[in-house]
Amino acid sequence: MISEKPREYCGLCGCTGSEGILDLTHLGLHSLQHRGQEAAGVMAAFDGTCHLHKGAGLVDEVFATLPAAWRKATISHAISHVRYSTAGASTVVNAQPLMANINGEFVGVAHNGTICNAGTLRSELQAEGAIFQTTTDTELVLHLMARCLHRHNHDYREALVEALGRLKGAFCLLLLSKGRMTAVRDPLGFRPLCLGRFKDGGWMVASESIALSVAGAEYVREVEPGEIIFWEKDGSMVSRRFAESPRRAHCIFEHVYFARPGSYVFGDSVYEVRKAMGRRLAIESPADVDVVMPVPDSGTYAALGYAEQSGVPFDMGLSRNHYVGRTFIDPGLSSRRKLVQRKMQPIVEALKGKRICLIEDSIVRGSTSKARIHTLREAGAREIHMRVTCPPHRHGCYFGIDFPDREKLMANKVGGTGAEFLAEMARQLQLDSLAYLSQEGMLSCVTAHPAKDYCCACFDGEYPVIPDVMNAAPIVEDNAGRA
Ligand code: SF4
Repeated sequence: MISEKPREYCGLCGCTGSEGILDLTHLGLHSLQHRGQEAAGVMAAFDGTCHLHKGAGLVDEVFATLPAAWRKATISHAISHVRYSTAGASTVVNAQPLMANINGEFVGVAHNGTICNAGTLRSELQAEGAIFQTTTDTELVLHLMARCLHRHNHDYREALVEALGRLKGAFCLLLLSKGRMTAVRDPLGFRPLCLGRFKDGGWMVASESIALSVAGAEYVREVEPGEIIFWEKDGSMVSRRFAESPRRAHCIFEHVYFARPGSYVFGDSVYEVRKAMGRRLAIESPADVDVVMPVPDSGTYAALGYAEQSGVPFDMGLSRNHYVGRTFIDPGLSSRRKLVQRKMQPIVEALKGKRICLIEDSIVRGSTSKARIHTLREAGAREIHMRVTCPPHRHGCYFGIDFPDREKLMANKVGGTGAEFLAEMARQLQLDSLAYLSQEGMLSCVTAHPAKDYCCACFDGEYPVIPDVMNAAPIVEDNAGRA
């Protein structure tokens, strides 16, 4: 892969009760393309039943192959999904939404997050005779729904509440049947999910608020942790809680890296949080340099904040090729350096002879950073001082982000703490100096919730939910990885 950044994450967008549902869903999902580029899918209710279309590729590619009937239909509600997962044949099978025929009615689900007790639930269901079609944890929702509907005499709402009560971990869900659309957010609110309203009274629900603004919906609020919202066919909207939410665990890394700067997530503007992170980094770790430069794109707003706070001029020394995407992943190109060079080109005129403060959002394996630093030196940079807008990544994530196994994280491999750790990291990366934003500093940049309401487990190892995989091997810390 080109990027060493975490790869497993998803985006959701659903619409109901408005004119032009298909176009609105397409617009919303397209603005969430950064959350997944391997596969996309859409499920819609029309002509008295549900229809599903999904495939490998980008949102526009998948929507371009929609059957003609979809364009002519009057669609009452639709849900959609983008996914970034491992490549290969499994991509299309695991693409979402997933749809199943439960007692003669189609039910579909799209999911952002990771169900942490998926292994246990899958074993239980298989022991009862369940046959799984995919390898995703999302399919569990459909199997649980089928069982709970039977127990609750086909009362959809009660069945869903019982099914959700079995799940642990991170799950934003959109569900669809011919009669209704449903949105769900897990009790800890790991992943973002927000609600918007169109002028004609219709609704949109999406992973990030950028989808609402692009589609012309006004931001209303977040779907609350532990909340279910049902939109019935008659246009009514009913909210109820399926679980108490004694604390929250919003993923702080959404602010550091994933979400788009034009979005609000967890009640804060991503743009403002990133700039604040840069300002705080400049206070915590100043650098005697000629220029502040970002690694685009996610480092750009933090670099602006760093430059503003430090009074050092801002410049762009790396130019990103925005046309390097999924199709560029070429198995024949084994050298990461070559891949990085094709994605990010140095601007010699901005770099030659300069002492640079390079603002990076994170260091995961370290191989991409190494290649990038080599490129900057070859282009003539005199000194490179890297400043990172989060603490070192030393732990895996079990909540919807596919960080590599713990033993592959560079900070974990180097080990140690303090000045010795930083010096060794800098030596291996061939930097003149390296500093990370402190965890306290990072959390001081979000304003909507107190620090205790954010998940920082990939930095500090304090997991808000203990996933099955850790229970299975509680002593062997190096087993940390994605469930
Ligand atoms: S472990 Fe890290 S990436 Fe995963 S949810 Fe927590 S903060 Fe986000």
